[in-house]
Amino acid sequence: MARVFCVANQKGGVGKTTTCINLAAALSLKGKKVLLIDLDPQGNATSGSGIEKKSLEASIYELLLGESTFAETVIHGKGRGRYDVLPANRDLAGAEVELVNMEHRHFRLRKAIEKELGNYDFVLIDCSPSISLLTLNGLSCADGVIVPMQCEYYALEGLTDLVDTVQAVFSDMNPNLTMIGLLRVMFDPRITLQSQVSDQLKEHFGERVFDTVIPRNVRLAEAPGYGMPGVLYDPSSKGAKAYKAFAAEILSKLGHSKQG
Ligand code: ADP
Ligand code: MG
Repeated sequence: MARVFCVANQKGGVGKTTTCINLAAALSLKGKKVLLIDLDPQGNATSGSGIEKKSLEASIYELLLGESTFAETVIHGKGRGRYDVLPANRDLAGAEVELVNMEHRHFRLRKAIEKELGNYDFVLIDCSPSISLLTLNGLSCADGVIVPMQCEYYALEGLTDLVDTVQAVFSDMNPNLTMIGLLRVMFDPRITLQSQVSDQLKEHFGERVFDTVIPRNVRLAEAPGYGMPGVLYDPSSKGAKAYKAFAAEILSKLGHSKQG
């Protein structure tokens, strides 16, 4: 049975998509079967995985509205480090409005994927930068939430909103959801402020902060231009190594064996 993680933070540009695609690739390099769900109308996780988002036959939008099946929507990854994708494009922006009046509107995603969970080890959901109905659909499926954050003063602001939402989902809709942790990304140790905020995060959130720190690394930013996760684009770069270490940390926290 797959473990389902949402990668969420209501801020944009904080590294959600980069985390999602690189963790997906790093876990699949370790032999895990991974499904990535793009729940952001920007479709960056889709294009960053090498999928042409304009010419999709079916996307997560149709799947959520019950207009396509999982099998019609999923794009199978081929080869090492390649994972399956439920892709998104701008159509998904319309789903927000259409879902409002639908039955079980918070659970459309869960219904759409629950029969497939046996075929995967991990499902990673790339959320949009908001606490929207789409994000709630993601949270309703999740066992945990990974919150990428930059170590700057405003990082903590808004974190409380997200924690509150996660708590509310936890008690109302999805008792399996537990806050899994904060991931420090785009880290530059030469900037004193970042080290200070990083220490504060550790003090404040303790175990809930992942040990792995993702450095600022230009190879990670270049990779989407080639339709590849950084982990595959330049495997020996600092950024790729950090995401591979993060995958190993997740596996060890969940008690998976270290081989592979
Ligand atoms: P989000 O999905 O939260 O909006 P992205 O993952 O798209 O954020 O990242 C925002 C921008 O920062 C992108 O241009 C991405 O390539 C870049 N980026 C993300 N993580 C890193 C990193 N560790 N080092 C350098 N650039 C990064
Ligand atoms: Mg994104």
